[in-house]
Amino acid sequence: MGLVVQKYGGSSVADAEGIKRVAKRIVEAKKNGKQVVVVVSAMGDTTDELIDLAGEVSPVASGREFDMLLTAGERISMALLAMAIKSLGHEAQSFTGSQAGLITDSAHNKARIIDVTPGRIKSSVDEGNIAIVAGFQGVSQDSKDITTLGRGGSDTTAVALAAALDAEVCEIYTDVDGVFTADPRVVSKAQKIDRISFEDMLELASSGSKVLLHRCVEYARRYNIPIHVRSSFSGLKGTWVSNEQPDGQGEESMEQAIISGVAHDTSEAKATVVGVPDKPGEAAAIFRVLADFEVNIDMVVQNVSAASTGLTDISFTLPKSEGKKAISALEKAQGSIGYVSLRYDDQIAKISLVGAGMKTNPGVTATFFEALSNAGVNIELISTSEIRISVVTREEAVNEAVRAVHTAFGLDSETDEAVVYGGSGR
Ligand code: ADP
Ligand code: ASP
Ligand code: MG
Repeated sequence: MGLVVQKYGGSSVADAEGIKRVAKRIVEAKKNGKQVVVVVSAMGDTTDELIDLAGEVSPVASGREFDMLLTAGERISMALLAMAIKSLGHEAQSFTGSQAGLITDSAHNKARIIDVTPGRIKSSVDEGNIAIVAGFQGVSQDSKDITTLGRGGSDTTAVALAAALDAEVCEIYTDVDGVFTADPRVVSKAQKIDRISFEDMLELASSGSKVLLHRCVEYARRYNIPIHVRSSFSGLKGTWVSNEQPDGQGEESMEQAIISGVAHDTSEAKATVVGVPDKPGEAAAIFRVLADFEVNIDMVVQNVSAASTGLTDISFTLPKSEGKKAISALEKAQGSIGYVSLRYDDQIAKISLVGAGMKTNPGVTATFFEALSNAGVNIELISTSEIRISVVTREEAVNEAVRAVHTAFGLDSETDEAVVYGGSGR
């Protein structure tokens, strides 16, 4: 009997009605003869609300207790969902991440899965139950404390369980009909992508398309788990993320679009270290300080030094949430690095164009910059990979910029409007 893993995001289980609707859908899969393992997120914006609450009682909420608090959100939805399924006459059992065997390292708030031992889940489904697992959480192998996997981590829970249970597919149910050529909340003419490679999906996810988490796609690629992203609100077919055609002909036969989509990200900030001596070891010193404070760096740009001063500026982007930490680390190291001043700007957005086809199609970069220029959008930083071009712009220009680029690459749908069924977009 085949096994499927279904993951329902917070917007799909936002209220009692949502939980009952999802329960019906899960029972349908079971009636179709599948063993069903469900991963569920916290209801609606519960996680954000818990974070706000923690901030009200303590300005430095983090670590062990913070993770204890946040995992409560998923426990609520897993138990309610199991109850809803039982009331439809089917057996269901809920499990925390720890009970489901999600073993992680000890890095609270951003733990990494190091092993999955889903013995209890396997027994539960073998006994005929539908197993419901709380997403986004695990248990540390060393400290035995409860950990969380970072925001959006339920996607990773689902793929990790799918791999460990040798599932046929990992279905990610959300509040849109699949992966679109841009965020449907910004571009109403965005088109649903029927099939996308792991490679392009990874770039979209790491450039801000939060419909799938980057780490979940990475995991799926490593274990070759096909992901089907679809809506829990409609019966439509969604987007297949895989390297295979349904007929199993493999990667070669996959028709590559030149451009897969446009992603945007407003969660980053830009820091500039002004007046850095232009000599070997300076960039190393700056980024060593940041690494020691566990600050994640994204884009890095260094200017040509002014001949008169021999000084240069180095700019980089980083998550806004790590801004304070980064600035205080650099301030402490000013004496040893020897820069003149620091600038920090959190009113920026990153816009990225992604597509494996850009490797072999000249002119993509020019069209991208022309689209931004025609929309009057100023570019502050640029970075590229083989299959992605990203720019940093003012945050207030982001929606206009995304729409302009989407149109310029002929991605606008002429017929359909993309539907957003739920969620607050938070
Ligand atoms: P869930 O609660 O199901 O985890 P998320 O809010 O994490 O849902 O992800 C779904 C959201 O991702 C959509 O509502 C949409 O606004 C956003 N999104 C961003 N980029 C894309 C994209 N390219 N395709 C589809 N959705 C996207
Ligand atoms: N509830 C967690 C969050 O909001 C995890 C998830 O939804 O994937 O980030
Ligand atoms: Mg999500």
